[in-house]
Amino acid sequence: MFAEVALPLNVSQTFTYLLPGDMAVAASCGSRVIVPFGKKLLTGFVVGLHEDIDDELRDSIKEVEELIDETPVIHADILELTRWMADYYYAPWGECLRAALPSGALVATEKLISITEAGRAAILPTLVTGHRTAKDAALELIAKAGTINSRELEEQAAKTGTKPASVSALIRRLERAGYVRITQRVGESRLRPRLQNVVRLLAATGAASEPLIPDRDLNIDARAMEPATDAGLADDTRARKRRGAKTRQANGSKPLTEQQQRIVDHLGLRGQPVPLSELLEAAGTSVSAVRTLEKRGILEVFAREVRRDPLGHLEMPPEPRLINLTPDQQQPLDLIVNKIDQHHYSTFLLHGVTGSGKTEIYIRAMAEALRQGRSALMLIPEISLTPVFSRRLRSHFGSQLAILHSNLSEGERVDEWRRIKGGHARVVIGTRSAVFAPLQDLGLVVVDEEHDTSYKQDDSPRYNGRDTAVMRASNAGAVVVLGSATPSLESFHNAHTGKYTYLKLESRYGSRGLANVEAVDMREVFRRHGKQQIFSDELKEAIKAAHARKEQVMILLNRRGFSSFLICRSCGLAIKCQNCDVTLTFHKYNLSLQCHYCNYIRPVPKTCPACDGKYVHYVGEGTEQIEAMLREMFPTMHIARLDRDTTRRRGSFEHILMEFAAGAIDLLVGTQMIAKGHDFHNVTLVGVISVDAGLSMPDFRSAERTFQLLTQVAGRAGRGDRAGKVIIQTYHPEHYAVVCARAQDYEGFYQREINFRRMMNYPPFSALVNILVHDKEVIKAHGAAERLANELRQAVQDAGLRVLGPAPAPLSRLRNEYRFQVLIKAHNRRSAREALDIAMDRTLQAGFSPYSISIEVDPINLM
Ligand code: ADP
Ligand code: ZN
Repeated sequence: MFAEVALPLNVSQTFTYLLPGDMAVAASCGSRVIVPFGKKLLTGFVVGLHEDIDDELRDSIKEVEELIDETPVIHADILELTRWMADYYYAPWGECLRAALPSGALVATEKLISITEAGRAAILPTLVTGHRTAKDAALELIAKAGTINSRELEEQAAKTGTKPASVSALIRRLERAGYVRITQRVGESRLRPRLQNVVRLLAATGAASEPLIPDRDLNIDARAMEPATDAGLADDTRARKRRGAKTRQANGSKPLTEQQQRIVDHLGLRGQPVPLSELLEAAGTSVSAVRTLEKRGILEVFAREVRRDPLGHLEMPPEPRLINLTPDQQQPLDLIVNKIDQHHYSTFLLHGVTGSGKTEIYIRAMAEALRQGRSALMLIPEISLTPVFSRRLRSHFGSQLAILHSNLSEGERVDEWRRIKGGHARVVIGTRSAVFAPLQDLGLVVVDEEHDTSYKQDDSPRYNGRDTAVMRASNAGAVVVLGSATPSLESFHNAHTGKYTYLKLESRYGSRGLANVEAVDMREVFRRHGKQQIFSDELKEAIKAAHARKEQVMILLNRRGFSSFLICRSCGLAIKCQNCDVTLTFHKYNLSLQCHYCNYIRPVPKTCPACDGKYVHYVGEGTEQIEAMLREMFPTMHIARLDRDTTRRRGSFEHILMEFAAGAIDLLVGTQMIAKGHDFHNVTLVGVISVDAGLSMPDFRSAERTFQLLTQVAGRAGRGDRAGKVIIQTYHPEHYAVVCARAQDYEGFYQREINFRRMMNYPPFSALVNILVHDKEVIKAHGAAERLANELRQAVQDAGLRVLGPAPAPLSRLRNEYRFQVLIKAHNRRSAREALDIAMDRTLQAGFSPYSISIEVDPINLM
């Protein structure tokens, strides 16, 4: 039997291995295996099994080292989905599979170093001469230890003051010289539950061998007790390992010591198994007392699974509020439920402003899928999973709900994953990678805030969670609901063409109106003051007034500090590329403006090319700077900042938001993070420092992003009973993104934007593939990019296919590497793919490294 194995490496092919002995019978598609690859052992995934292979392969074939799972960890449907992903996104299949599992799924292997005869012999002379190099010292340490891993070797060398500059380089040298042997040891699979020692009483003191407490009492915490075997993991079946059963004897005649009595009393009092650590603490005794009682058959210590619950720290939610949907809400729900009943794939676009009741509809539709004995998946953007939201869902679905997001600990994630795989949790809510949740019999997939860019993964595999979710639903015959207040242009276009069914929620629930949105013309403010202002008088006054009324304020910066483009203070114009209609990026090193799509280049102009104005300036202040200015202007306000820098620590995001919700913070300043999905009733003012940075991003989606952001923001103010106000500062008040957002006019925006896309041939009218080439040497990076671009141009003669570049990437140098990009713009996805296949083959054959080329299909921003 031979296994086709996908490895989590940057290679497009799979590899064939021989399955020796029993493995041939036990292995199945979707199992993990450990295989030798080069000098390493790697965890791979069996994606195919064959009885036979070509003769020429036979001689060189290697054997699978270890079969980790007898029951596959990946179901056939996810195998299929990842195969599609690998193909569509031009990503290695093994990496897609890795992304589909909790991070502990790749079994770590460890290098073990041991000394050889030659190595031993090599030590001798130094003992004689007394001259010790780092090499000699290392050999001595290895000889003394027998076997040692490189980390231990490094530690010991450090202790003895003989640490070489690079331990791994030294080890490689020693191995080449034949002085040491390197073998690998396979670590443990980390897809296991956590086990905890628990103690229970077996017999009344001084008597009987009959257990006092029947076995079912093991199940006190039913959620914690879902047996591991249900998750279908052969290696994880040792959940209830009992100890001490054999040595148990009714040796009850001897009286108990005071300590022992306390233990027995405590257990009796609790009437159920007690975790060992808790027992020791409560009874104030040592382990040995427990062990003695165990030997005497009075109690038993055994291991029990403990669930690591991501919501464990939250109090259990109250019963869900019973809500009657309005007819406006009921109608879309009925349409969705009707499709779920039919077991057919179908996609809905649910368009409704924040607060219109989309989540109420999702919850009911998910409940309906459950009622039919099927499962439901809901994807949300990274930022919207607040404790409030989690509780709302848990109050509806209880222990049926599993949560998967990137802030979980590894253990929590493994446990949630196992509960899903075992069928105990049939509703999953999570961020991007939850699209791979091992749910069976999927009935419904919801993607909330479907326009959100966090659905796109930035590193390999570069997939879009929303689009992958639609694919998964389509394979499974499930219904998809894409929800948003500001649908992506692509999805709205699909609704227009009839590919998706369009559902609209016209208004907010109840009578709460939308905020009043004002635009402050910063050109006017500039004229008034004769110099650039970051805060307009209008915004300052409004903050003061809100504070005086004891109401809260949010101040939003469009992006984190970004200052690499030019804008004219008089006409508000950002300087654009003549070919691409995107903003040119300022490059300091040669004082030029460059287009990152087509490589058009021009010197920095002295005056504005449009209005001849003299005040051309660079744009961009960071959140930190804004926060400092606010503190200075409003010393009596409690001000906090929320951006990627302040929320790196786990929980800090929730913490800041909770403080804000509790009123401990008067003013919150931040990036678009603060614009999303949170409901603060006392916020009556939202200020947007400047939308111009966003409008001028060198990206054809800049208007769409700005419109979405402003619309979201407008939904943030005045959600309580007081009217809200939004102030947008801009040099560009007449831009359609600003005008339409102020009027909450999605249709109007769509019409303008879709015309621009059609005219310029951008998505949804074309498919884009962005190829990033990076290298420490600028010549190499540029050379590879140029080679690839040329190969692409030659590969397919298709009039609808254009290859742009190479041009410097917007981040033209990152981590010491030069970056260039090549953009494919195609009418036809297939021809783009064909061209890419051919060109990549040729480029790699010419000796360029696959590791310096990253391919992104359907890039979300071209940054
Ligand atoms: P969205 O997801 O569109 O932002 P939600 O479903 O969260 O909207 O609804 C916003 C708020 O209005 C929630 O507190 C929700 O419970 C409430 N709500 C929505 N529809 C109704 C209704 N028909 N009756 C009572 N409350 C409702
Ligand atoms: Zn250009």
